Amino acid sequence: MKMSVLFRSMFTAAFAVPFLLTPTVTFAQELNLYTTREPGLIKPLIESFTKATGTRVNTIFVKDGLPERLAAEGAKSPADVLMAVDFGNLTDLVEKGLTQPVQSAALTSAVPANLRGSNGEWFALSLRARVLYTEKDLGLSTVTYEELADPKWKGKICSRSGQHPYNTALVAAFLAHHGEAKTEAWLRGVKANLARKATGGDRDVARDILGGICDIGLGNSYYVGLMRSGAGGDEQRKWGAAIKVLLPSFQGGGTHVNVSGAAVAKNAPNRDAAVKFLEYLVSAEAQKIYAEANFEYPVRPGATVHSIIGELGVLKVDPVQLADIARHRAAASKLIDKVGFDN
Ligand code: FE
Repeated sequence: MKMSVLFRSMFTAAFAVPFLLTPTVTFAQELNLYTTREPGLIKPLIESFTKATGTRVNTIFVKDGLPERLAAEGAKSPADVLMAVDFGNLTDLVEKGLTQPVQSAALTSAVPANLRGSNGEWFALSLRARVLYTEKDLGLSTVTYEELADPKWKGKICSRSGQHPYNTALVAAFLAHHGEAKTEAWLRGVKANLARKATGGDRDVARDILGGICDIGLGNSYYVGLMRSGAGGDEQRKWGAAIKVLLPSFQGGGTHVNVSGAAVAKNAPNRDAAVKFLEYLVSAEAQKIYAEANFEYPVRPGATVHSIIGELGVLKVDPVQLADIARHRAAASKLIDKVGFDN
């Protein structure tokens, strides 16, 4: 080593420490998160994870085609954690061999068995219930999903498209409970009760109850929070105020839920950090952030829910395995077409 180079090395070593003490952040570890969720919703979770662990999370927002992208990247994929909404999307990743099993007591104790892959291939992180929006003055207090086919509701039900994933998942759950013949009869009954064409979004059900077009309809629980909090504007606040929300259940079962969840990618280069991130996401601290950020139910039993969501009553989640329900999705979609639900 030439003298000048040696001198420069000594100089660098001597001054390296003061430089590290400046606000420039260094990260002990990092991981790559592929997410189909809006980055805004998960940003507070990532920031708090990084603060707690010093692990940097590089977020790659993949709006569409997550399985295709992972398959194309293959063994060289930089993806560590895969985050998605709808259990069907999570089980698709598993079926396509794009995830790997995770054994973690922190995860299995925080996530009920029906809300995760049986070998730890994916884990639910937050829940949304398929609830019933009802005209306030009806004074309803309980209702089952089965009852929605009762002719007493003729011309009184509003619904979004039967083919929307929120509804195909519910029909798939109905199939898991009752089999094909009963599900088809139920779908025909609900279709016959529709007040208008099955179209629009869940919040339009509340709008149309206020408008006197219908009396009841299914919608996701978090939209109640979005409407009633005013997050969706003044008009939506009125829709939210016009309805009474009930948590329906299957006969002999519970309320249908869908989930947001995550998995460790098959070829995760930072596997340990990925598992730690998943464990963090089900911690009491992160679960509180989930409840506050998007009016979702935290997956962790006993975790605090947002006050607007707490007012809806105690959620008793249907015990059927989501992975079993997912197997009925294709049949559900076929039946919805067969009865002409969206016509
Ligand atoms: Fe939605």
